[in-house]
Amino acid sequence: MRGNAGSQATAPRREAREKVSGRKSSGEPRLPGKTGKGMPDADVLVIGGGAAGMMAAFFAAEAGARVILLEKNEKAGKKIYITGKGRCNFTNACDPEDFLSHVPCHASFLYSSVYGFDPAAVIAWFEEHGCRTKVERGNRAFPQSDHASDITKALEQAMRERGVQIRLHSEASRLILSGEQAETEREEIPLPGVSGQCRERAADRADVQQTVRRTVTGVCLSDGTVLSARAVVIATGGLSYPTTGSTGDGYRFAEKAGHTVEPCSPSLVPLCCAEEDLFEMQGLSLKNVTLRIFNGKRKAWDGFGEMMFTHFGVTGPLVLTASADLADCLRKGQLKAEIDLKPALPEEKLDERILRAFEQNPNKEIRNVAPEIYPQKMVPVLLRRCRIDPQKAVNSITKAERARLVYETKHFSFTITHPGSFREAVVTHGGIRVREVDPGTMESRKTAGLFFAGEVLDVDAHTGGYNLQIAWSTGRAAGLGAAAYAKSQSKETE
Ligand code: FAD
Repeated sequence: MRGNAGSQATAPRREAREKVSGRKSSGEPRLPGKTGKGMPDADVLVIGGGAAGMMAAFFAAEAGARVILLEKNEKAGKKIYITGKGRCNFTNACDPEDFLSHVPCHASFLYSSVYGFDPAAVIAWFEEHGCRTKVERGNRAFPQSDHASDITKALEQAMRERGVQIRLHSEASRLILSGEQAETEREEIPLPGVSGQCRERAADRADVQQTVRRTVTGVCLSDGTVLSARAVVIATGGLSYPTTGSTGDGYRFAEKAGHTVEPCSPSLVPLCCAEEDLFEMQGLSLKNVTLRIFNGKRKAWDGFGEMMFTHFGVTGPLVLTASADLADCLRKGQLKAEIDLKPALPEEKLDERILRAFEQNPNKEIRNVAPEIYPQKMVPVLLRRCRIDPQKAVNSITKAERARLVYETKHFSFTITHPGSFREAVVTHGGIRVREVDPGTMESRKTAGLFFAGEVLDVDAHTGGYNLQIAWSTGRAAGLGAAAYAKSQSKETE
């Protein structure tokens, strides 16, 4: 083991740890290095006490592993409290196939973990652990109390019962990698009296990289404490809502462990738009509309449902889903979009509908008749776009003006300049390349003993409880995978 800085846990801190873990320590200052002969501090160390990390810790402990969960915040599950507007839409009660259709990319990576712990099993798990649940419109599952805290309580209680040691205020700062250590040691050995030393050293290092499989042996905390473990699970989340603790630390750790991190961008996020007249309609919600998005001339996306205007662009369920499906396009540049305000009416029928309204009020100004067909907030914008004087009496509206109104109703266009920021994104698109991770166990294919779970991976889904389901399924797979790996290692050292 490396350095022991910060090893002597102070009494108040020890008490706090005992309080959260429900375990009593011997009273002796606990040395952070190996706890017994050949015995590391933990079989499984989980970094990140979010949804994925807590589920991983529970399953690893249930499989018999000694587990330590590290969470840098003052409490675990900080993000869970704000999910589903405080009610936590913790899964979607659909079957696994349907679930996978809501994962826009790398759905096949989730196949094994989701079938292993599907939405029905997740609902049953929470019921078994004291959280009554209910299913609402669109199969969205919530705690019956409508309190997200019930989800966190169930997880904490379950972890305590399995003896997981939860360490709050504990920020992992880096992984300890044994292959890395070996490489450094080789580099420091002087190569005696050989010319072209640098070249040979480089070749030597390449040999080391090929022959020594990198293995994770523990974690260094930001206060200098070193914790050893047979297996480490990275469940540090993505980059969205950084105030909840998700600041992308796991990407850094993974890169050091030889992983590729796919570019990250905000997903399930409002979209910023160029046209200022949109901002006049902020707060206006449109129901039963069709939104189409174009990448150049090609239609890249369309959907039917509800959306809303904001002071910077558009948001709402349709927009959030589009932002997830088009995350890669959105990163590359501007996109054109249009709303069909009356998707149920073909153009001729719409024209008839408008004419009928005009005929019933022939002398009224159009600005007073249009609200029969359009939301009030939209009328001035629409009329301006159609170049129709709002004070004009409807009996003097020309055929050409009416045609423009019909066209604008079916093709209300705008430009999407960029997605909103990570601060307002529900999830992060991108992350650890899934090809480098075993989908059954979530084990790294680059570093032995390293596992991943949750949003840190390059998988994200639509709204509706699907993202938390990813956290539960991958968390369970990683917990079980890490416990099995730790067991195999302990047998080897016996
Ligand atoms: P996180 O929840 O981000 O947890 C990561 C944890 O790791 C954090 O607690 C963090 O503090 C800790 N951590 C990070 N770095 C370190 C470190 N170096 N050392 C120690 N600890 C560290 N999904 C749904 O399915 N349904 C919803 O209703 C829903 N609503 C949402 C609403 C909002 C506003 C947001 C932002 C998201 C919502 N989501 C929802 C998405 C969902 O919350 C996430 O997909 C899910 O929480 C990801 O879980 P995770 O455990 O992978 O990551």
